[in-house]
Amino acid sequence: MSLIADRILEIRQRIDRACLSADRDPASVTLVGVSKTVGRAEIDAAYEAGLRDFGENRVQDAIAKFTDDWPADATRHHIGSLQTNKVRQAMRVIDLFHAVDRLSLVEEMRKQAEKLDRVVPVLVQVNVARDPQKSGCAPEEVSALAASIAGAPELELRGLMTIAPLVSDPEETRPVFAVLRTMRDDLEQTLGISLPHLSMGMTNDFEVAVQEGATLVRVGRAIFVPDQV
Ligand SMILES: *Cc1c(COP(=O)(O)O)cnc(C)c1O
Repeated sequence: MSLIADRILEIRQRIDRACLSADRDPASVTLVGVSKTVGRAEIDAAYEAGLRDFGENRVQDAIAKFTDDWPADATRHHIGSLQTNKVRQAMRVIDLFHAVDRLSLVEEMRKQAEKLDRVVPVLVQVNVARDPQKSGCAPEEVSALAASIAGAPELELRGLMTIAPLVSDPEETRPVFAVLRTMRDDLEQTLGISLPHLSMGMTNDFEVAVQEGATLVRVGRAIFVPDQV
């Protein structure tokens, strides 16, 4: 059984190698440790090992783990689907929202951000593969949703996020990531804004995602669950 620090180092090396193979700068990829299966002790161990970005998919878990003595230089990501009635609480502990996928959520986020006098950075989650089990807006809904966020002074659109289908050969996920990148590039053109982030890639497929342009990779098991690397 390896230590969290060793696993982070190995994943970081795999990210760096994927960057080199795709002619990308390794500094352009941020590793987000998805801590949903562990507690604060493991988060602190990962922080000690140099990790500065952490993701949770449930608001209650984020509140429980991301508040007491949270280090000022660590970033808190909300990566799961977000219920409208949790937005208010979520905004107190989350720095970047990855999974904005519908207009009603945008409206509630605007309202709560205004109350907090915050400009909240968000990504739009796209269900590229149209997987009925997964959240995310349909590909044809992205442009309207992105435009509504870009036009909202309380929110800042930073890019797109997707979850690829779980397949045995990660190579099969490549078209999904390539489509998300193309959608991002198209939105930059039509909206006339810069969208720096592509949140894509998990334990099974992060190297392919990096080769296709991921800037945020969300890795859980390979860091926090022993014997997954
Ligand atoms: C759990 C989760 C991850 C991490 O998945 P692993 O396979 O454990 O790396 C990434 N993104 C989202 C949205 C998740 O819910």
